[in-house]
Amino acid sequence: MPERIKNYINGKWVDAASGKTFKSINPADTREVIGLVPDSDAADVEAAVRAARRAAPTWAKTPPPKRGEILYRAAELLVKRKQALGECVVREMGKVLSEGLGDVQEAIDMTYYMAGEGRRLSGETVPSELPDKDAKSIRVPVGLFALITPWNFPIAIPSWKITPALIAGNTVVFKPAEETPVCATRLVEVFHEAGLPPGVLNMVHGFGETVGEPMARHPVVEAVSFTGSNEVGMKLAGVCAGLGKHYTMETGGKNPIIVMDDANLDLAIEGALWGGFGTTGQRCTAASRLIVHQDIYDRFAERFVEGAKRLKLGDGLERKTQVGPLVSELQYKKVLHYIEVGKKEGAKLALGGGPYRKGLCANGYFVAPTIFMDVSPNMRIAREEIFGPVVSIMRAKDLTEAIDIANDIHFGLSAAIYSRDVNKTAIAERDLDCGLVYINASTIGAEIQLPFGGTKRTGLGPREAGGRGGALDLYTKWKVIYRDFSDRLQKAQID
Ligand code: ADP
Repeated sequence: MPERIKNYINGKWVDAASGKTFKSINPADTREVIGLVPDSDAADVEAAVRAARRAAPTWAKTPPPKRGEILYRAAELLVKRKQALGECVVREMGKVLSEGLGDVQEAIDMTYYMAGEGRRLSGETVPSELPDKDAKSIRVPVGLFALITPWNFPIAIPSWKITPALIAGNTVVFKPAEETPVCATRLVEVFHEAGLPPGVLNMVHGFGETVGEPMARHPVVEAVSFTGSNEVGMKLAGVCAGLGKHYTMETGGKNPIIVMDDANLDLAIEGALWGGFGTTGQRCTAASRLIVHQDIYDRFAERFVEGAKRLKLGDGLERKTQVGPLVSELQYKKVLHYIEVGKKEGAKLALGGGPYRKGLCANGYFVAPTIFMDVSPNMRIAREEIFGPVVSIMRAKDLTEAIDIANDIHFGLSAAIYSRDVNKTAIAERDLDCGLVYINASTIGAEIQLPFGGTKRTGLGPREAGGRGGALDLYTKWKVIYRDFSDRLQKAQID
């Protein structure tokens, strides 16, 4: 029997008001139904927003270190449940177990990090130009947040949004991806058990149009943090701007690895395989473009194809599996469509090129690792985000051309260069137009203590995660306080 999943509103686990449900399934074997999930609508959003609004004044006044204590308890529960949560990620989303555990570890790291922010959240104290007067800035909560998340990091990404929102004193209505509602529920259970007061965090399951959009548009919701497709992110940014809401939109990537002729080729190939096919290419930082110096192009391509041929596809819970299925029928069809686009555009298919149905993969959304060679930078497969195990290899005559190709797209999330020449890597570091640059490492594997996000259409609004310029810039606003203890009228700029 599949588990009956609930919404979480005002500290209680409840069905959708309509009583409707939808199914969450295992993408590695679609016959397995994992959860029956509330198919919520605007009525459920309304109840969640009301609860969050009621909880807001008390939570905003709770001392941040006390909020932090709840987050520390949540982090400890996540540590205890890491294995079970990692397995849940595998069953519901399809990634392999080591990566499922990594997903949970990222949430652990983020929760501890943001718990610590409870004792920092610092502003500035500066001198006043007038005597007997002081001047300082403090961070205050923004208010009520709608958090909308995707399925590819079903534990980590919600934690990136929930923990900074909470530590900063905001209340939350959260809509997880419809593909991974069971994972989201396991995460919210942790905050419930850690002692979060009712109404501070609420979760409404369901779909984008029926839950996400009413949430983002709700007049009481003051800010929106979204991660997902570029199309929806840009649309929501318009909605938020029109309604005067704060927002962050984290969307797509089309991330390049540049491989120079002096690179450590073994390392570059290993990094490209991990970046291109890790998480079945379903990371926003996946390496979907390999830009290779012409002098090593053939050697690199041959060895890269050999490496990809050896990747083992299967259920992520099997120890030997390296590449799992795509998350859903929609993604499966989208990836197969792009493969056809690549063939029609005239790219040379060097590996894969269709579904993978061998053995136990027959009942899942598996696509064979696919490599296109001789891809030109203007082809759609070189410009549009595919979000699957499809990698395009391009040729560059030198570093300048490689960087031009890397930059000549609408996205700018992550980029990598493999070279042993320190000058070349320094030039790439300076000239690559993106949010994350990796030197002699693949495009994936950001750490939580620095800001995460990109340039151009990859992202709008403040970045996520930790460090200066990270998530607290979205989840707090500045208040400046001048205190005059002179007992007389003093005039700045005039006295
Ligand atoms: P993906 O391709 O990663 O599934 P989506 O942008 O479709 O990307 O989905 C990411 C999240 O955004 C999911 O939680 C989804 O339900 C939600 N979503 C989709 N469409 C909308 C919308 N119009 N308004 C608000 N949220 C949406």
